[in-house]
Amino acid sequence: MVSHLFYQTGSKRPVLAEARGIYMWDVEGRRYLDGSSGAMVCNIGHSNPNVLAAMRRQMEKSTFGYRLHFETEPSEHLAAKVAAHAPAGLEKVFFVSGGSEAVESAIKIARQYATVTGQEKRWKVISRLPSYHGCTLGALALTGYAPLTEPFAPMYRDMPKIPAPTAYLDGMDPADPATGLHYANMLEEKILAEGPESVLAFIVEPVGGASTGALVPPSGYMERIRDICTQYGLLLIYDEVMTGGGRTGRFFATDHWNARPDIITFSKGFAAGYSPLGAMIVDEPIVDAVIKSGGFLHGFTYAGNPLACSAGVAVLEEIQRQDMVANATAMGTLLKARLTSLMDRYPFIGDVRGEGLLLAFELVADRGTMEPLPRDMNAYLRLVDIAYANGLIIYSRRTRNGLAGDHFLVCPPLIITKEQIDQIMEMLVLSLDQFAKENHL
Ligand code: PLP
Repeated sequence: MVSHLFYQTGSKRPVLAEARGIYMWDVEGRRYLDGSSGAMVCNIGHSNPNVLAAMRRQMEKSTFGYRLHFETEPSEHLAAKVAAHAPAGLEKVFFVSGGSEAVESAIKIARQYATVTGQEKRWKVISRLPSYHGCTLGALALTGYAPLTEPFAPMYRDMPKIPAPTAYLDGMDPADPATGLHYANMLEEKILAEGPESVLAFIVEPVGGASTGALVPPSGYMERIRDICTQYGLLLIYDEVMTGGGRTGRFFATDHWNARPDIITFSKGFAAGYSPLGAMIVDEPIVDAVIKSGGFLHGFTYAGNPLACSAGVAVLEEIQRQDMVANATAMGTLLKARLTSLMDRYPFIGDVRGEGLLLAFELVADRGTMEPLPRDMNAYLRLVDIAYANGLIIYSRRTRNGLAGDHFLVCPPLIITKEQIDQIMEMLVLSLDQFAKENHL
C-alpha cells in the first residue's frame, strides 16, 4: 500500500469499505463494532444522514473562504453554538483543524497575553506525566510520554511536569479529599521550584485520555488546581480535545467541577470524524488584551473552513437532538459496571476507571501490587489484535508513569444502546478468555 501511515502498529489492517452507526465493514464484508469511536472521535456514530446532508448543502455553496477575506456563516454559527456550551465568560472561539493545533494555539495565546500584559518573564507551561497533548513540537514539549517525546527532545524546549494523580497505583483513596490535595499541591511545589514569575500556564486533560487510560481526578483535585493557578497568576488550560463533545457525560468535562479554566482546547468529537476540526475557546479578557495589542500572531490556512464548520454545526445539533450527553452518562454507568464485573472473572484486570463513555481497564500481573504484565507479552498490542479478529475495535496504550502498564480504552459512540453494550461484552469476554489462555494467566 503506497499511502501507509508509517505507524508502529503490530498488524496489517484491512481496507475500510463503509461505516454506519457504531459498525464498520471491511472490503471482505467483515463487520467490526467500533468500540473506541476510532480514536475517541466518532462520537455520534458513522454516516449520520443529517450531518451528511448538511455537508452536501454546504458543499454546493462554498467549500473555502479565506479568513482574511470573508467571515462564513457556518463558522459564525458554530462559534456561537460551541461557546454556549462553555463556562460563562469563555466566549471567544478560535478555529483550527485538529487537537495538536488547538494546543499550540492555546499555549501561544497564553504567551502573547503574558507579553502584552507586562509579564514577559512567564513562558513555562507545566503539564503532567503521563499526558498526551499532541505531536507537533510545541504540544510535544507538554506531552508526558517518553516513547513519543525522547527522540525529538533536542528540538524543543522541555517543559516542567508533575505526576498525574494516579491514586489507584499509589494506594490512595480517590474519594478522599486529602488525596486530591496531595496531588494538586505538587503543582504548587513545582511552581515554587521553577520560580512563580517564570510560569505561564498549567495544562491538564480533565479526564485522562490515551495517556493515563481515562484517569479521573481525585476528589477536590481540580478545585485546588484552580486555586493554585489563580494564586500564582497562571492560566489554566483544559485540554478537552478528547473529553469535549459529551464523551464524559457533560458537554465539556469542566462541568463536572467548580473549577473554571481560562482556555479550553477541543477537537475530536467536534466534527466527530466528519471533517478535520478543532478549536480553542478562550476567556474574553485574554482575547481582548491580545486584540488591543494588534491581534494574535498565529493562525492556520484552513481555520474556520466552511465545510468543516457545517459538519460541526450539524454534529452539535445531532448531539442535542438525540440527547447523546445524557446517553453517555446512562450507558457509561452501565458499561463501567459491566467492565468492573469482569474483575471477578479475570484476576489480571487491575483497575477499571473513567467517566461517562470515556472508560478504560488496565491489565496487570498482580492486582495487589499493580505489578505490570511482562513487557514481552505486549498485552497492549495482542489483546487489541485478538479483539479485532473477533470483530471488536478497542484502543490501547502501554504507559504508567514510566512503568510498563497496559490499558485499554472502551469508548463506543455516544449513541450506543444496551443491546450493543451486550455485544461489546460478549466479544470482550471471548477476547480476554483467548488472551488468558495464550498467556497462561
Ligand atoms: N490532546 C489530547 C488530550 C488528545 O487526546 C489528542 C489526541 O489524541 C491531542 C491533543 C492531539 O490531537 P490531534 O491528534 O488531533 O492532533
